[in-house]
Amino acid sequence: MEPASASPSSPSIVLGYSDAARTVREQATSSDERPRGTESLTLLDSLSRILAAPVLADRDQPPFPRSTRDGFACRSADLASGDTLQIVGQLRAGEVWTGPALEPGRAIEIMTGAPVPAGADCVLMVEHAAVDASSIRTTRQLTAGENVVPAGAEAQAGATLVLTGTRIGPQQIAAAAACGYASLPVHTRPRVAILATGDELVPVAGQPLPHQIRNSNSYSIAAQVLQHGGKPVLRPTVRDNVAAIESAIEEALTSDLLILSGGVSMGKYDFVEQALLNLNAEFFFTGVRMQPGRPVVFGRLPAGDGYRYFFGLPGNPVSTMVTFALFAGPLIGALAGQASDQLGPRFVEAHLARDLQAKPGLTQFLPARIESDSTKATVRPIAWQGSGDQAAASKANCFLVVPEQVEKLSFGSTVTVFPF
Ligand code: AMP
Ligand code: MG
Repeated sequence: MEPASASPSSPSIVLGYSDAARTVREQATSSDERPRGTESLTLLDSLSRILAAPVLADRDQPPFPRSTRDGFACRSADLASGDTLQIVGQLRAGEVWTGPALEPGRAIEIMTGAPVPAGADCVLMVEHAAVDASSIRTTRQLTAGENVVPAGAEAQAGATLVLTGTRIGPQQIAAAAACGYASLPVHTRPRVAILATGDELVPVAGQPLPHQIRNSNSYSIAAQVLQHGGKPVLRPTVRDNVAAIESAIEEALTSDLLILSGGVSMGKYDFVEQALLNLNAEFFFTGVRMQPGRPVVFGRLPAGDGYRYFFGLPGNPVSTMVTFALFAGPLIGALAGQASDQLGPRFVEAHLARDLQAKPGLTQFLPARIESDSTKATVRPIAWQGSGDQAAASKANCFLVVPEQVEKLSFGSTVTVFPF
């Protein structure tokens, strides 16, 4: 497939954020981007992985008409008369009524989760009944079916509860457990090679000289790879040297995706694009009108009988994290087998906590905190020193999205937020 928006080796393809996101999505959902295999994992080990076959209901859910209240199973027609009902028995969850079908004028004391006996068509809440030793009275009128979930109303036996391609969270684990799955089939994780470039970098365990920097990006990238269902492969740090970058890239082509950090800006020692070009890379974009993250690069390299996608992420740590989350994350999701309608990124809305001056011409992603009470979410930008300020990013729980055309945003307005 040809790149959507530019010639294969164009050295400068700068897109707006939306076009860049669309370009990544098009590549991510192209038919040959499929996971490499599947494996079976115990239920808990499958958390955050991508389901490789549907979870099916092994029986009707609920398997019996389930009382949703503690109270009295009775006939709704009887309540209309206002007569006293005689209590003829008791049913707790885990028990089943073995007596005759409930006759008119009678009620059975029942607990939440117990099967509603034949003859009864509703459950009167205990709070709404005047209870005598062996009878009840109420002024309430109930309709047939009230406080009862009929057998099979939630799902019928054989129905699909969780679709293939779903990221497995607690709710999917609950559904699988309820249907007797001790293990789940999941897609194998794509291997994502992580190559940090920069002469200034020292290993995290090393002692940096005053002018040196610890290589934190390899770790933030690896953490994000894990979050998106990939398997991080940390490669040695690469010097700012074209030949060194080329051979590091070539060695990493055994992975399913390459993530480079640093060396994609306009500096004299930013050689990543040159190295990629020397290896016959096809570029989809070489920059995005966004802040942070403007120099981000996306393309693919010939490898074996096909190609490998790569991202060149800017080295500034906040840029690295934001561009990963917006662009690399969805591609990893696709390589991991995630359904295309679930790839993200996902945005939410919140009310802005103060006025904000924007920079028209760039989509901004500003580190911020979203705070929610039960009725409303408010977002407040965090003071920051720009795209190298990981101290600010580490206080953030989201990025406030300021669209490209916007000049200012006002206190109280509804704004877009990228939870992070
Ligand atoms: P670059 O994108 O190579 O121009 O780097 C931009 C900034 O990010 C510089 O201040 C670098 O020192 C910093 N940087 C680059 N790579 C890393 C890394 N792996 N970890 C932390 N900071 C980095
Ligand atoms: Mg650099």
